[in-house]
This record gives sequence, C-alpha cells and structure tokens, in this order.
Amino acid sequence: MAWINDNYLKLKAGYLFPEIGRRVRAFAEANPKAKIIRLGIGDVTEPLPGAVIEAMHRAVDEMAHRETFRGYGPEQGYDFLREKIAAEDFGKRKCDIAADEIFISDGSKCDTGNILDILACGKANCIAIPDPVYPVYVDTNVMGGNTGAAGDNGSYQGLLYLPATEQNNFTPDLPAEKVDVVYLCSPNNPTGAAMSREALARWVDYAKRNDCLILFDAAYEGYITDERVPHSIFEIPGARDVALEFRSFSKLAGFTGTRCAYTVVPKSVTGKAADGTRVDLHRLWLRRQTTKFNGVSYVVQRGAEAVYSPAGREQCRKLIDFYLQNARTIRWTLHEIGLTAFGGENAPYVWVKTPGGMSSWDFFDKLLTQAHVVGTPGSGFGAQGEGYFRISAFNSRENVEEAMTRLKAKLA
Ligand code: PLP
Repeated sequence: MAWINDNYLKLKAGYLFPEIGRRVRAFAEANPKAKIIRLGIGDVTEPLPGAVIEAMHRAVDEMAHRETFRGYGPEQGYDFLREKIAAEDFGKRKCDIAADEIFISDGSKCDTGNILDILACGKANCIAIPDPVYPVYVDTNVMGGNTGAAGDNGSYQGLLYLPATEQNNFTPDLPAEKVDVVYLCSPNNPTGAAMSREALARWVDYAKRNDCLILFDAAYEGYITDERVPHSIFEIPGARDVALEFRSFSKLAGFTGTRCAYTVVPKSVTGKAADGTRVDLHRLWLRRQTTKFNGVSYVVQRGAEAVYSPAGREQCRKLIDFYLQNARTIRWTLHEIGLTAFGGENAPYVWVKTPGGMSSWDFFDKLLTQAHVVGTPGSGFGAQGEGYFRISAFNSRENVEEAMTRLKAKLA
C-alpha cells in the first residue's frame, strides 16, 4: 500500500480558479446567448513579440542540423541567457549579481513552490506570508507540511500572515516577532501595490537583524512605471546576503504558454543546518535543480534572450503599455461609478473594494449575472482579500471597453 502525503488533504477543496470556472460554466449553460468577458485569470492575451518569434524560428532551424542540434542543455540554463540577464536586468541597475547566480527555469510558479525543497519542512521555520497574495506560497507550504489545518476563514495554523490592507497601503508591516522566512511579492498579485525603496530597505534590514530569508517574487517587475519603485530587491544594499528573487518572462513578454523564468540565488545567502553550521543556499539549489530538473528547451531560451534585443525590448514595452492602458481604463471606470479601486499603475491588476460591504463572492456573482463579466473574488487570495475583487487588465482593448460599458450600465 502506498501512503499518501496527508498534507494534501488539508488543502481547501474549491481552489479559487476551478470554483470560478464552475460558476462561469453553470451560468453559460443556463444563458447560452450571454457574451461573457473574462477579466479573471491573470493570463496574457496578446501574441509573443516578433523578435521572440524570429529568434525561436532560428533556433528551431538549428535543431534541424547535426552540427547545430542541441540535446540536454545545462540544467541551470544556457550561459548566453544567464549572462544577458546578469548584464541587462542587474548590471544596468547596479545590482551585484553574477551570471552563475541565475537559474533558468520553466516558471516562477514552480520555483516559488520548489524552493521549499531546500528548506527544513515541518514546523522548523517560522514562515510569514502576505495576505492577500498569490495563493501558491500558502498552498505549497501546506503541501510541504509547514502548516496545521485551515480555519473557517481559510487561513492555516502555523503560518504568520502579514496583512496588506488599505491602512498600510497594501504593504505588509514588519512583524513584531522573529520569522525565519518571509515571502514578499512586488508588484503584488492581487492588489497591484508596489513596494517603495524605503519599505524594501526596512525588510532587508529586518532580515539582517533577524537572520531571516526573504523570498522576493518580482514576476510583475516589467509593469513598474514609478521611478521610485525598485525593480529588484538587489537594488537595496545588503540584500544579496538575505534574499532570493524570482522573475518570469510570463507577464513581461507573453511567455505564459511558452514557459521561461529564472531565480536568483546569490552565493552569499546562507541557512542553518540542523547541527548549526551555515550552508549556502546556492549549493543546495544547484543540487536540487540538477537532480530534479532537466532545463528549459534551447528554443525557448533563445526566445527569452531576444527579449533583451533592442527590438525585443521595444516590443515588450508596447505589450506592457497596452495592458497598462487597459488597467487605466478599468480604474477610471470604477472611479466614475463611485467604487474605490487600487493598483493598476505598476501592475496589470486593479483591486476593487466591493460596494456596501458586499462579500467577494457575492460581488463576483453580481458581475457575472448582471454584466456577464468575470473577475476574481479577493477572498481567494487570503482572508484579508474578503470584501475586495481583482480585475485583470489582460484582455483585448475591445473586451475591456465593452466590459467597462456594461459595468457602468449595471453598477452606476
Ligand atoms: N508569481 C506571481 C506573483 C504570479 O502572479 C504568477 C502568475 O500569475 C507567477 C509567479 C507565475 O509565473 P510563471 O508563469 O512564471 O509560472
């Protein structure tokens, strides 16, 4: 008999997106004529940049000849891409990150989950997670046995939740107690809030004082428009001793279906072994990746490299500007209607306060049934998301404008 990982049974059954899918399908079946506009899931809609497509075509052609064919590549990624990232994403921002501290992967979702492989599981670490936030951090900690059971509001025992609310501008405050690991996500999914340099510096200082590891998720870095907002935690002095950073090409360059991301593990970040010795996490992550991962395809890595070419940069900029314009349209409309909305300036998400204290799911049902517009209930991102609703800017201009016209008609 195979014994299962019982921790999976602690996961809440109706994970957010399947539940949204179920409600939308039921509505569509009952109302086959309704043209439903989906501003729920954070998936891009526009095609890959031309420079990426051309680079991938060239790479495919190389695979057709014995002389240029590639088999297994380095698990950590090809040097051409790691060096480009080190120079362009970090060197140009004066961040001290070397190419061999960059690990190419097929997604930040996998990396933010897999990183727990190299940390002690069970109750050894005190783990802090912002609330609300990308649900993968909490769920992977549940799977890894780092939590107790879920309470009525969906929060798990054993995690320290860091409220990100209107009162603190959706930037988690430092905890009073000492934590061992903290997740930070900036710009944030779902609130769209981006952490200021000062806020990030406070966290780096906290991490140094408390021997805490920061897991910094910058999947939406490309959407930062405010010059005061750091693009990388490594812009903060001292961060390379306490932080890892996750980056993705998904939202930056439309790679959600193409799959390419990377994780920065500076050689100076260490953790403690059971016998008290310090061990650098770089060595452990390298071991983990070379054992459990066989690298991202050559063709895809060539595509990612093209993101940094002059044409690739310009095309990605246009792509992001396009989504940010959608976000502005959404925000303006919500303000016109008289709703309170946040985000959408340094992120592709607008975070709306539900009117009259309505619950997140009631507001979801209202928009679906009255305007045929799908968003994401805030409570799905954590207990503090209750009473909020996420609207994604990832859609065509036409659909966003049509959705906003309907919202005005139904909610104003
Ligand atoms: N991190 C955050 C905060 C996200 O919102 C997402 C996707 O929505 C990811 C990571 C996943 O990125 P990837 O497509 O690279 O797995």
